Amino acid sequence: GDLDVNVPVQSKDEYGKVIHTFNDMTLRLREAEDARRRLVADVAHELRTPLSIMQLKLENAQQTGQYVPPEMMLRLHDEVIRLSLIVEDLHVLSLAEAGRLVLDCKPLDLSAKLEQIVEDVKMEAEENGLEIRFYSNTRPVTVMADARRITQVFINLLTNAIRYTPEGGSISVVIEDGVMDGNAAFTCASVIDTGIGIPAEELAHLFDRFYRVEKARSRHSGGTGLGLAIAHHFVRAHGGFIRVVSEPDQGTAFTVYLPAAK
Ligand code: ADP
Repeated sequence: GDLDVNVPVQSKDEYGKVIHTFNDMTLRLREAEDARRRLVADVAHELRTPLSIMQLKLENAQQTGQYVPPEMMLRLHDEVIRLSLIVEDLHVLSLAEAGRLVLDCKPLDLSAKLEQIVEDVKMEAEENGLEIRFYSNTRPVTVMADARRITQVFINLLTNAIRYTPEGGSISVVIEDGVMDGNAAFTCASVIDTGIGIPAEELAHLFDRFYRVEKARSRHSGGTGLGLAIAHHFVRAHGGFIRVVSEPDQGTAFTVYLPAAK
């Protein structure tokens, strides 16, 4: 049920402190309850569309009394894959949001890893008429990281760069060691594209789950709206953070900051 208990605090004595703690707990419970409710609503909303598309297609096939044509089978299969991806992404995201993501951190040569990832997505980029390049000022660049999670972060960023950059554009992956932010040293890796960019007023929500700058456009391009939320939480779990700089119609740069290895 709803948590709308609030006990007025009148004194600063022990009794007052207990009440204060109680009110604080109530507030936090209410926030958790709100977050849970939002998640359920988001998931329901996201699963509804692919499910109703599948339902419609199957019912159509049934009504015409015909066998399901191969191309329709393919499209149905695509929808099932999409649903599975969303469910899988939601699972890791919920672990990460709850701080229960278990990392397997080992020394990792980020430079070699990124070079390999760039190699892996090269074909997809070129099929989309994009040039992709990798730059590193030094190597090896060792960070303490969970290779599988970090790979996912850069795959997500690169998939977006490919998705949101029109034909003829380019993508650069740049790695830089020993970047200072305040008193801390970081290893930075950026994914820079010459794509459609992101309006300034949208940047604040970019890492929220299911957030899309333009719903129709993203749905069409096949994303789940979870890629950046996952990247954000994975990098945070490593003690790092992501910064983004963007200019509509010029391009976008995402920079991943990972704590420099001691
Ligand atoms: P999606 O699966 O929709 O790509 P993401 O969480 O990965 O979800 O990204 C959220 C939204 O941020 C995208 O829908 C898109 O509008 C915007 N976005 C992400 N990366 C880029 C980029 N490189 N260029 C322009 N827009 C981007």
